[in-house]
Amino acid sequence: MKRILVTGGAGFLGSHLCEKLLNENNEILCVDNFYTGSRKNIHHLLDSKNFELLRHDITHPLFVEVDQIYNLACPASPVHYQFDPVQTTKTSVLGAINMLGLAKRLKIPILQASTSEVYGDPEVHPQPESYRGNVNTIGPRACYDEGKRCAETLFFDYYRQHDLDIKIIRIFNTYGPNMNPEDGRVVSNFIMQALRGEDITIYGDGKQTRSFCYVSDLIDGMVKMMNSESGFTGPVNIGNPTEFTMLELAEQIIELTGSKSQLVFKELPEDDPMQRKPIITIAQDKLSWMPKVGLNEGLMHAIQYFKKNIE
Ligand code: NAD
Ligand code: UDP
Ligand code: UDP
Repeated sequence: MKRILVTGGAGFLGSHLCEKLLNENNEILCVDNFYTGSRKNIHHLLDSKNFELLRHDITHPLFVEVDQIYNLACPASPVHYQFDPVQTTKTSVLGAINMLGLAKRLKIPILQASTSEVYGDPEVHPQPESYRGNVNTIGPRACYDEGKRCAETLFFDYYRQHDLDIKIIRIFNTYGPNMNPEDGRVVSNFIMQALRGEDITIYGDGKQTRSFCYVSDLIDGMVKMMNSESGFTGPVNIGNPTEFTMLELAEQIIELTGSKSQLVFKELPEDDPMQRKPIITIAQDKLSWMPKVGLNEGLMHAIQYFKKNIE
């Protein structure tokens, strides 16, 4: 049995991770400041004797005793990370320093939930880990993109300077149950709009692409990365390489929900990436990881979850 710290454990991905690690007979310390996360996501875990919840902001030091750290704390939806951009950078950078300091004192492995946003609006397509990205340092997405890039830098400096056992995954758009229905991300927006019979808001012409990964696949890859051989740092892309336009996503959601919603076109947000698709050969070779759940099946699970949230 390991004692595992999950920061951002009450969020969308964090809650699934806590549940999986708990089911695998570990002791979980879930740390969250509830900025975008919710007690509802972890309510069913609170009764377990191996689950502990701590309200804490990781921009402040944290002194606890654990065996592994998964660092997920950070708002992930553009709406939320741009609401208080200074706090977003603080969470990514100061939060990483504190969690790395903790890992260094305890001499334990630490995994960073990085993002495909480190590639910015990519000029190389699809994206391999070796691509260095195209990020606007002064745009509205920079608080998140540059914060996450700096966190990767810190992880590698602690690795080189302090010989820390670091693991970095770059997560591509992931969706599923426990996403906040009001989160503002595309999958939750489209499903909620379709279920409520409201207009579906396409930003721009809807021809921009994303590659959507179902949450169980993502969490599987994350845990495999944490338990990979010591010295294997990544970064590793974790995502589903099947690419869709936002128009295709909207059409699929309308079909699966049987909704009568109409498409409406809104302004494309500044610096919105035009395309995104991971190359996942490193994850396949090093982690024997492949996504299993296709978009149709994953969307059905997500729709079921959101339906319950409307009732
Ligand atoms: P989320 O917003 O649902 O979860 C983030 C959690 O972190 C929330 O519970 C929030 O309250 C908590 N948090 C935020 N700031 C904090 C702070 N300073 N101290 C403590 N807790 C804090 O988002 P998510 O989709 O679950 O994303 C989790 C992680 O994965 C994030 O680091 C995100 O950048 C990364 N990621 C997610 C995706 C995706 O598609 N879901 C893609 C790329 C990267
Ligand atoms: N830190 C922490 N918990 C610990 C150890 C360190 O939160 O168990 C914080 C510490 O407060 C510091 C940061 O992590 O701000 C970086 O620690 P490190 O030891 O790397 O740097 P230093 O303390 O020398 O600045
Ligand atoms: N998007 C959209 N309608 C919405 C929300 C988002 O067309 O209601 C688009 C957005 O402009 C982007 C894509 O969907 O091109 C994915 O957006 P999301 O906020 O989910 O994540 P991102 O990958 O941009 O961080």
